[in-house]
Amino acid sequence: MEELHSEIQKADPEPAPKIIGLTGGIGSGKTTVARFIEEFGFPVYYSDDRAKAIVNESEDLKTKIKALLGNEAYDENSMYDRKFVAEKVFSNKELLHELNEIIHPAVKVDFEEWLKKQTKYLVFKETALLFELRLNRQCYKSLLVTAEDNIRAKRVMDRDGKTYREVEAVMEKQMPEKDKIKLADCIIYNNTNLDDLKEQTEQIIFSIE
Ligand code: ATP
Repeated sequence: MEELHSEIQKADPEPAPKIIGLTGGIGSGKTTVARFIEEFGFPVYYSDDRAKAIVNESEDLKTKIKALLGNEAYDENSMYDRKFVAEKVFSNKELLHELNEIIHPAVKVDFEEWLKKQTKYLVFKETALLFELRLNRQCYKSLLVTAEDNIRAKRVMDRDGKTYREVEAVMEKQMPEKDKIKLADCIIYNNTNLDDLKEQTEQIIFSIE
């Protein structure tokens, strides 16, 4: 009996969930895929949304950002002034780098806190800059959503009312799709309809071992 008891005590704890990095360029459909993944019962951490939230939630971050960019980085209600910050860092690469050096580690901590609460064997981390920030190295696998440039542009123009040129300007700043395709472990080609996208998503997520 005592032996059995000590065997139980030695039993391995639940293995940590496997993290799948979910990414894609502008208008690729990564958020749509993330919603499908949630519908299939898996948790998704939305890095970009969390980054936008924590600049307002963390007093420590507020202090650091104000020290870097000035008190005007926050408005009179103490909310992050996205427009001011964007203008300030737009043509100043060094400042943008320093701002990211403040925000990215905070997102990392926030993700780790979130991860501790997860109980599924797979979790997904949606990050636009997965490959650019080499965050894929911290993931079990990477999942890329991609589509032809003209299709992505059309979807963003319809979604956001942007011009082709505006979308193209963002695309030009992002890592080319062909480079992402080389780096990705799993790829969803989102060139057709939403039914096909959902089917591909289901097929891929349930085949990850
Ligand atoms: P961003 O990086 O700009 O936030 P995203 O990669 O998250 O974009 P989504 O927002 O998921 O992309 O998709 C862009 C738009 O295209 C959305 O309006 C979405 O509903 C639409 N969309 C995505 N995939 C398809 C599809 N297969 N058929 C029709 N519409 C689609």
